[in-house]
Amino acid sequence: MQPFIIKRRCPAQDTLCKAIPACPREAIRYVADEHEPLGGVIVFDYDKCDGCGQCAQECCGSAIEMR
Ligand code: SF4
Ligand code: SF4
Repeated sequence: MQPFIIKRRCPAQDTLCKAIPACPREAIRYVADEHEPLGGVIVFDYDKCDGCGQCAQECCGSAIEMR
């Protein structure tokens, strides 16, 4: 299982994101991107991720899907 962002549910807030600090492997980060409607996006490093699902549990917007 791997986490995926459901963008329409995620406000992509660097400082407010609950998923980033919840990840025990530091596999989530915010990336500013001027081409994104909200100015940035939450991204996963799948080389670090072990599929634990913590991020999906802590995400305040139910914006992370494990599949
Ligand atoms: S907690 Fe979830 S909805 Fe909120 S910014 Fe992070 S990934 Fe997006
Ligand atoms: S599934 Fe676990 S290791 Fe992977 S990004 Fe989410 S919290 Fe981090």
